[in-house]
Amino acid sequence: MKVSQEILNMTPYKPGKPISETQREYGIQDVIKLASNENPLGISQKVKDALLKSFDETHRYPDASCYELIQKLARVWNFPAEQMAVGNGSDELIDLLVRIYCEPGESILTSDAGFVAYSVRAAASRVKVQRTPLAPGYRFDLKAMAEFLRQRRVETKTRIVFIANPNNPTGTYNTASEVDEFLKEFGNHEELLIVFDEAYTEFVRAKDYKSAQDSLKKYNNVVVLKTLSKIYGLAGLRVGVMMAPLQTVDLANRVRTPFNVNQFAQAAAIAAVDDFDFIRRTCEVTWQGLDYFYSELKAMGLPYIESQGNFVMFDTLRDVGQVNEALLRRGVIMRPIQNYGFKTEIRLSVGLAHENQRAMQALREVIKEVKPIK
Ligand SMILES: *Cc1c(COP(=O)(O)O)cnc(C)c1O
Repeated sequence: MKVSQEILNMTPYKPGKPISETQREYGIQDVIKLASNENPLGISQKVKDALLKSFDETHRYPDASCYELIQKLARVWNFPAEQMAVGNGSDELIDLLVRIYCEPGESILTSDAGFVAYSVRAAASRVKVQRTPLAPGYRFDLKAMAEFLRQRRVETKTRIVFIANPNNPTGTYNTASEVDEFLKEFGNHEELLIVFDEAYTEFVRAKDYKSAQDSLKKYNNVVVLKTLSKIYGLAGLRVGVMMAPLQTVDLANRVRTPFNVNQFAQAAAIAAVDDFDFIRRTCEVTWQGLDYFYSELKAMGLPYIESQGNFVMFDTLRDVGQVNEALLRRGVIMRPIQNYGFKTEIRLSVGLAHENQRAMQALREVIKEVKPIK
């Protein structure tokens, strides 16, 4: 059978190494995983209760419209219900946007080191990926993106711009004024959709950051993606939310599979979005963990990027394959990011205090064992 080259070129997504696999391969029981930006607090009692209650409805199809969830999100996030759609993680929403707006051979635009899902979903739809170089400090360069669009949008048939704000794996962000300036030029553009992926928006401490949510009032080509996988702790249930123009929501509802968000996911999400105590505690644990990492990394002389997410990317100054291997032998799973072109950098998610300490202890040993190459 004939298969297109774009599909043949794809490789399966490589998630953070599972704990069980590491236990098997390295013959150790005590393994910690700080590799997938998951919520270290687990799930709250409220969410557990909601899940147990929804058990008895398992024989029924879930609500295809996610009515109750969307009504709740509208209240809690202060955003019109008609302008929201829910997906099987924001991964699915990224996929839908590419399929809705791009023909094979057309392009999306993102940045070097931009979240990998954009290029993976594009490839699956035979859509090309254009990238602009990072600005100093590993930041998305919105000026370079604007210049690309001015010069090459027509020739490359670029349809969607994906801006992860904050970005994963770098943890960097773009300021409110950078975003405003970009939107002043490309907001309401008739042939361009501008997507802000705000998976980590709740963790941001930078004072000059602003969600793009309010710009949906002013511009008819802006989409904001949110996820319940990170601060809300529901990565295993897969819930992403799209805030978008009415027409985009309408199209997404036509293209998506009818029962894309299962009943457990809906029930848990309804309980999680206004679990403010859990959200506050998650922020506290995250910020404390980040500050602890910064001081330890500084003491070890390893450069890091200050992060607006629940993870930090730092430079081991060593071959990251060797560093990772040595960490795994000590039962610590971090996330090498060679797939983003980083050969000495690694990404570390914030865990509970004792996990963070163990990660830093292992790292101190490993940098003695593996020789620097920088
Ligand atoms: C984790 C993450 C997401 C969320 O993905 P889900 O499919 O909702 O779990 C989206 N964007 C970025 C940048 C992320 O890091």
